[in-house]
Amino acid sequence: MEKPKKLHAALLSSPGMGHLIPVIELGKRLVVHHGFEVTVFVLSSQASHAEAEIIESTMTPKLLNVVELPPPDLSAATLGPDAGVIMRLVVMMREARPAFRSALAAMEARPDVLIVDLFGTEHLCTGEELGIPKYVYVPSNAWFLALLLHSPTLDKEVKGEYVDRTEPLEIPGCKPVRPEDVVDPMPDRLDQQYREYVRMAGETPTGDGILLNVWEDLQAETLAALRNEEFLGRVANGPVYTVGPLIRPVRLAGLGKELLEWLDKQPSESVIFVSFGSGGTLSAEQLVELAWGLELSQQRFIWVLRQSTVKSPDGSFFDAWKGGAGDEVLCFLPNGFTTRTREIGLILPSWAPQVEILSHPSVGGFLSHCGWNSTLESIVNGVPMIAWPLYAEQRLNATFLTEEIGVAVRPKELPSKKIVGREEIEELVRRIMKEGHTTRARVKELKTSAEKAVTKGGSSYKSLCKMKEDCHMRIHHIKKAR
Ligand code: UDP
Repeated sequence: MEKPKKLHAALLSSPGMGHLIPVIELGKRLVVHHGFEVTVFVLSSQASHAEAEIIESTMTPKLLNVVELPPPDLSAATLGPDAGVIMRLVVMMREARPAFRSALAAMEARPDVLIVDLFGTEHLCTGEELGIPKYVYVPSNAWFLALLLHSPTLDKEVKGEYVDRTEPLEIPGCKPVRPEDVVDPMPDRLDQQYREYVRMAGETPTGDGILLNVWEDLQAETLAALRNEEFLGRVANGPVYTVGPLIRPVRLAGLGKELLEWLDKQPSESVIFVSFGSGGTLSAEQLVELAWGLELSQQRFIWVLRQSTVKSPDGSFFDAWKGGAGDEVLCFLPNGFTTRTREIGLILPSWAPQVEILSHPSVGGFLSHCGWNSTLESIVNGVPMIAWPLYAEQRLNATFLTEEIGVAVRPKELPSKKIVGREEIEELVRRIMKEGHTTRARVKELKTSAEKAVTKGGSSYKSLCKMKEDCHMRIHHIKKAR
């Protein structure tokens, strides 16, 4: 039989570190483990140091081709100054269609397969036009995917606002979703973002399959429910492939001398890392409570400190990772905080080498906004969490982490609803750092299961092998049908 040709995959990433990182990592995995050639098309939001660094990391050794698409012209788009993050991402991706088409046309050879991330579903038709298989990469978890895929049905069946309901939202075969946990565009059904969300939800299953950044053992029941004929079978063209955990690898010099020396001096698993992802911010009042909570707990900490410049639940998604914020954030802290905590704490303004910090043996806890990349990075490093969800699908993730897999503790009320007081923070930090033996043991079990999944022969490895095989089949069928 003829040896199948090497496949060339075109991957399209939407803006934002939370998308760029998992797309690049998927690309690397396809090259290194599965013999693909990969070109990643990046729609960078704005030039940012962190984004440039991620792209740079693919150059040595050069595993992938990275093509940066020019920033889309948004002048014709009706995007008000108050437009939310989802709306802005959607419009940027929509307006990038001509640039993406031209970039594909400029390639030496047409790609064999197209993989877009969640915000790129409007680009699936480009795959259709090129006559190649097309996939959607959802860099999140199976419960989120189930809610997403069921959202068009909920949209038809549920009257009124989801958040006003007293009953949870039922998803076939899955754990129901509490109204307060719904993903961000869902709380306001009159907002244009919500309509875009329902559109994306309808488009996601129309490709030849969905790639998900989880592994089988993490969410076996939800995955089984999703794959049931009565659920995915009704809406999807192709299977769900579990490909994770795909996270950024640790860079050898990533920590820098000062941070490494400080961490090396601390006892094993004694430091809690506090960070709210690439864009999460807290109000000034909440910052003060958090500072007091950390100080009262007397636990060692590293805190990525960022103060909100905009009054929005989305934080400052589009500018937080640009860096440049200096020590001015320190003025939001209680008087004398930095002096009193000098021996136990480090404050890093704006941005930190997160994966490197989490992988250091001195780190034993993570107070996190529960973005999916951060969540995976914590699990893969065996670090239990304090779940502090802020936006996007983070409330869902926080519930999953605390109530389903037991790797996190959380405040009694959602931080987006009520300021979490210093005593509660102190207690949560102590609980996770001092008493959380079961939580720690559980996250270490999952660390092992994650490692198994991505090694050769593991479930995620096999899943990508299957995806590759299915790709060849689809290509064969498309050719035959011509
Ligand atoms: N990140 C980082 N340093 C920071 C903040 C974030 O390296 O100071 C990385 C983090 O390791 C993760 C990504 O940025 O890989 C954030 O993705 P996530 O899904 O956790 O959250 P998002 O930023 O999309 O809300």
